[in-house]
Amino acid sequence: MNKNKNKKRAQPVFFIGAGPGDPELITVKGKRFLEGADVIIYAGSLVKEKVLQYAKQDATIYNSASMTLQEIMKIIVKAARSGKKVVRLHTGDPTLYSALQEQIEILENGNIPYEIIPGVSSAFASAAALKKELTLPEITQTVIFTRLEGRTRMPEKERLSELAKYNATMCVFLSIGMIEKVVEELCQGYPADTPLAVVYRATWEDERIVRGALKNIAQKVKKAGIKRQAMIIVGKTLGQGPRVKKRRSKLYDRNFEHAYRNARLGRKLGGI
Ligand code: SAH
Repeated sequence: MNKNKNKKRAQPVFFIGAGPGDPELITVKGKRFLEGADVIIYAGSLVKEKVLQYAKQDATIYNSASMTLQEIMKIIVKAARSGKKVVRLHTGDPTLYSALQEQIEILENGNIPYEIIPGVSSAFASAAALKKELTLPEITQTVIFTRLEGRTRMPEKERLSELAKYNATMCVFLSIGMIEKVVEELCQGYPADTPLAVVYRATWEDERIVRGALKNIAQKVKKAGIKRQAMIIVGKTLGQGPRVKKRRSKLYDRNFEHAYRNARLGRKLGGI
C-alpha cells in the first residue's frame, strides 16, 4: 500500500511579473494564474495594488513589504504543501532585482515545483513612456541593465564608471536617490551632453518624466523632488537631434533581403 496515497501533492508556485503598474500590463497568462490563486503574496513596496483586482474574492492576500524571507517562504511552502494555488507577485519582470533566486532555492530544497511567468519590466515601460527605441543602428545596439552600488556590493568590473565607457544605452534601477553619484560615475564614460531621462512611476497615474543631459539632470531631479521608484535611462538613443533621426534599420530597408522579404519585390513596391 502506498504510504503517500493520501498525501496531497504540492501545487506549483507561480512567480509572476505584475508589470510596471498599469494593471493592463500584466501578461494574459499572469492574469489567468492570479485569478485562480488561493494565496497571493505581493511585493507591496512596488506592486501597484490595482493589479489585485484580478484576485478571487476569497483569496488570502499578503503584502510582503514588511516580511522577512523566512516569513514569506513559510507562508508559500505551507500553502503549496496543503494543495493551495500560490502566486508570488513581483513588480516588473521577476528576473530583475527581485530576490527571486533565494526564494527558488528554498522551494527546490523542499521539492516544491514552481514556474516563472515574465512581466513587462519598468525599463521597457519607461522607454515606452519616453517614446524611444533603446537600440539604434550605428549609435548603439546594446542595453545595459544595472544599478549603483548600495548595500548590495557591485562586482568591480561593473561599477557605473566602468560600464559608462561602452557608451551603450543604460537603464539604471534602484539608484534615483543617489542621482548625484550616478551622474558623477556616468561622466567618467559618457560625454557630459549625453541625453538622460528619469521616469518616475512609469504607467502609474502620477507618472512623471524629467529630461535633460548628464550635466544638468541631477539638479532637475532634485527640483522635481523625485527620490524613489524611478528609472534612469541614459544614452545617445534618447537624443532628438538629426543624427539620431536619420538612422534607418536594415530590417525595413527596401534593398535588404531576408527570410521573410524579397529585396526586388520590396523595390518594385516602392517605399518611403
Ligand atoms: N523587477 C523590477 C525591478 C525591481 S527593482 C522590474 O523589472 O521593473 C525596483 C526598481 O525598479 C526601482 O527602484 C526603480 O528603479 C524601478 N521601477 C520599478 N517600477 C517602476 C516604475 N513603475 N517606473 C519607474 N521605475 C520603476
